[in-house]
Formats: sequence, structure tokens, C-alpha cells
Amino acid sequence: LPSPNRKVWQREDSKRILPKRDANSHKGSHGKALIVGGAAHMPGSIAMSAKAALRSGAGLVTVATPKSAVPTIATYVQEATFLPLAEEEGVIKGPVDFDVSAYDGVAVGMGMGRGRESNNLVNHLVSSVKSPLLIDADALYQLKNILGLLRSRTYPTILTPHPGEFAHLVDQPISAIVQSPFSYSREFSKKYGVYTVLKGPATIITAPNGSQFVDLTGNAGLAKGGSGDVLSGILLAMMLQSGSTTHALNSGCMLHGLTAEMLIEDDHSMVDLLATDLIEGLTQTFRTFS
Ligand code: AMP
Ligand code: MG
Repeated sequence: LPSPNRKVWQREDSKRILPKRDANSHKGSHGKALIVGGAAHMPGSIAMSAKAALRSGAGLVTVATPKSAVPTIATYVQEATFLPLAEEEGVIKGPVDFDVSAYDGVAVGMGMGRGRESNNLVNHLVSSVKSPLLIDADALYQLKNILGLLRSRTYPTILTPHPGEFAHLVDQPISAIVQSPFSYSREFSKKYGVYTVLKGPATIITAPNGSQFVDLTGNAGLAKGGSGDVLSGILLAMMLQSGSTTHALNSGCMLHGLTAEMLIEDDHSMVDLLATDLIEGLTQTFRTFS
């Protein structure tokens, strides 16, 4: 795995740069996050992203989601505020030109569904978010038609596909991606000027200049619905609290993976581990690893 332009991210690297809480800080000091997505039939994904962002130190989290999904999500994430969106049959539909200027970072896509309206939504965010923008899950499918817009962004754009989502983005079979993940993600990041977090047992983080990092933490307990949603929330929070996108992404992936490892050692097994356990487990990871 290691090569001259590829680095395996180590615990010491993250230890040096994990966010610290200044005694005089207030909630605004730690960043305002906007998380966009969700649907009435899958409120869990975005709820977990929001909770994971808060558990990872984000100062304020706003969830933009179909109106009918708000009560369910609010019950699970009492600390969040909400931007209720117009919907049709439980998915976002209608005007999506809401104001995004107040946020220090935005994540979109978790549990959103792949309706046509969300295409306009991703387009709106790519064009108007003047802060880091993380694009995950269903939003990656909508992004495919507007990849050309990414080069016009002046703030970091982060894509967090698993191999299936990445294969769709680059029009290749999954087998090709799994065989040459480094070269596909480097080519893609350079072409569109984005950070790519290609997830898997070895997660490959690529910067727009093509430099690559490998995160080897985690275990097969993460191979379960919701793990990626938790990761998106952690990464968003890390970006709010770090001056370096590369550091934020590497440390976020490591926090996610180390939490899974720690939970398997202590209270859980790879069979029973749930994404919500990861969110609660972040407590111990931050306590022992910062
Ligand atoms: P997603 O497919 O979007 O739910 O994301 C899954 C998350 O779990 C990513 O962070 C992956 O890196 C991680 N993951 C999935 N399977 C494994 C595995 N077998 N070993 C380590 N990490 C995994
Ligand atoms: Mg996912």
C-alpha cells in the first residue's frame, strides 16, 4: 500500500490534530453545520449523520429534510434545529433554493432517495454553498449529471462514495474500481478538483492535487446500514473544526474506524454492532484518543 505519493494515516497524526475545545469558546466557535437529505420512509440516515456531527463537536446542526420527517428525526436528535422542506410522497420536492449562506459546512444526500427533484437540490448546493460541501449517498447519483459544475467551486468539495457509488460516477464496473482504486480515485479527484473518500476495508482519501492517504482502521462490524451516514456526520464536524480538509478527512475516518475497533474489544461483536452504537462509542474514542 505505501508508495512515495501515498501515506498510511497513523494514530499519532490524528492525535496531533484532533479538535481542542478552548475554555472561552461558544457554540458559534465550533461551526454551524447544515445537513440536507432524509425522506419520510428513511429518516434514520440523516438523523444518525446529525447526531454523529454533534457527538463529534459541531457547534450547531440544522437538518433540512421533508417536513413530514421532522418529528421523527427531532425525537432522536433533540439538539438539532430544522429547515422543513416541501415534499411529495415523503421525498424532497418543490422549491429548493433555501439560503445556505449562514453555514460553515454542508453535507447532502443521506437517506434522501433518488427522485428527480433532488437533482435541482444538489445543483443548488454545488452552485451556492460558500463553505465545504460533502456529497454522499443518493446525492452522488444526482451529481453525476452535473459533474462539470464541480470545477467552478471555490471551497472544498468532498465526495464519500462506497465502491458501488463510485463505479456509477465514473461509469465503470465495480470490479474495475476494486482492482485499481488508487488510480481511479486520483484521476477523478484531479479531473473535477474534489476530495474523494473511497470507502471500504481500506478507505482511500484523495486530495484534488492527487495526493493520497489510506485509512486502515475499522472492521467488518461496519458492513451494515448506517455506518456511512455516521461517517458523513463525523467528517462534516471535523471540517468545521479544522483548517485543513486533508487532516479533517483523515482524522474523521480514523475516529470512525477506531470507534468500531474499540467497541468490538469491549462490549460488542462484529455481528451485533450497529451504527447507533458507533455514535455513542465516539464518547470513549474522544476520551482516550485526544
Ligand atoms: P456505507 O457503505 O456508505 O454505509 O459506508 C460504510 C462505512 O463502513 C465506510 O466508512 C466503510 O469504510 C466502512 N466499512 C464497510 N465495510 C467495512 C469492512 N469490512 N471493514 C472496515 N470498514 C468497513
Ligand atoms: Mg452510504
